[in-house]
Amino acid sequence: MERIPVAGPWITQKEIDYVTDAVTNAWYGNANMYHDRFEKAFAAYVGRKYAISLPSCTSGLHLGLLSMGVGTGDEVIVPDITWIATSAPISYVGATPVFADIDEKSWCLSAESFAERITPKTKAVIIVDLYGNMPDMDAILEIADKHGIAVIEDAAEAIGSEYKGRKAGSFGDVSTFSFHGSKTLTTGEGGMLVTDREDIYQRCLFLRDHGRDPDSKLFWNSEVAYKYKMSSMQAALGLAQLERIEELIARKREIFAWYKASLDGFSGITLNQEANRVKNTYWMVTAILDEKLGVKKGELIERLKEKDIDARPFFYPLSALPAYQGFLLESQPQNTVSLSLSPFAVNLPSALNLTEDQIIYVSECLKKCVITE
Ligand SMILES: *Cc1c(COP(=O)(O)O)cnc(C)c1O
Repeated sequence: MERIPVAGPWITQKEIDYVTDAVTNAWYGNANMYHDRFEKAFAAYVGRKYAISLPSCTSGLHLGLLSMGVGTGDEVIVPDITWIATSAPISYVGATPVFADIDEKSWCLSAESFAERITPKTKAVIIVDLYGNMPDMDAILEIADKHGIAVIEDAAEAIGSEYKGRKAGSFGDVSTFSFHGSKTLTTGEGGMLVTDREDIYQRCLFLRDHGRDPDSKLFWNSEVAYKYKMSSMQAALGLAQLERIEELIARKREIFAWYKASLDGFSGITLNQEANRVKNTYWMVTAILDEKLGVKKGELIERLKEKDIDARPFFYPLSALPAYQGFLLESQPQNTVSLSLSPFAVNLPSALNLTEDQIIYVSECLKKCVITE
């Protein structure tokens, strides 16, 4: 039997045609034709004024922080549970990450914990739409507004998700997306920064092109900056995927529904939640095991591997990683929800090429793995 992959894309002839056209024709005067189309269509889809295609989501977060002047001496609040790409750019700009707890149900930033972590040095918060879910945006944005804190939304895992009918990627000053090969919409590697603020848009265009003013003479740089660009082949792939986005999202939701049906009535396993106000696009179907089952994530992943199933650990709290040793101030309260959920949670196979039969197989194996102690 073939291994059941945890993540991966859904590529059709449309993607192949667009990339073929880009590699054939997107040169000389047409070099930017796919970037222009992809960025325009993406901004319109998310509901933002401006979009900038980038080599990654990490570079988008970096530019977002730089464009709002976050730097040395500033603190930036992030949820403790996320991929390190959310927090690493805080260090790139010389600021300090401050880890806040997550909400027990959404697994996204807890508004309460966010409020508790604010100090006079807090300059920004990075909200994460974890695994396709979305946090209590109203509460978080209100707190940020009250304290004059800049808001970045890391929507890497949540293209197409909605909060009260508004798309992920339309909240805060800046939002960013990832098109890594594991994500719902992929360009292999790639990302997008979106914003409604013209000043941020212009500053990011400047910063991502080695600090060149748009109308300066050739090779005349006014600041030392960065080089963050996407290729036209990636932009073509992204455009083709975006034109199929409803289909990609429907498949993600279908995969979740297959798991839900297969695991229905089995006690001890909690899957991703979807609050009434949220449309979750379930980038990764995730199972939290009841502590009473006595199975930790590492063991479960090993047991599933023996059955040719790839699963991934739920993110470790960032504050527990060697990379952040010594970052957590002793005075800071523990992120108890992050610490209690993470050891017992795994991402189940959620690749876009999976079939219902495969999901049923994974679900049956999962049940066996957690009851045979
Ligand atoms: C994938 C991911 C990123 C990073 O995306 P890259 O395109 O690899 O830089 C950032 N944040 C979250 C939450 C992610 O899942």
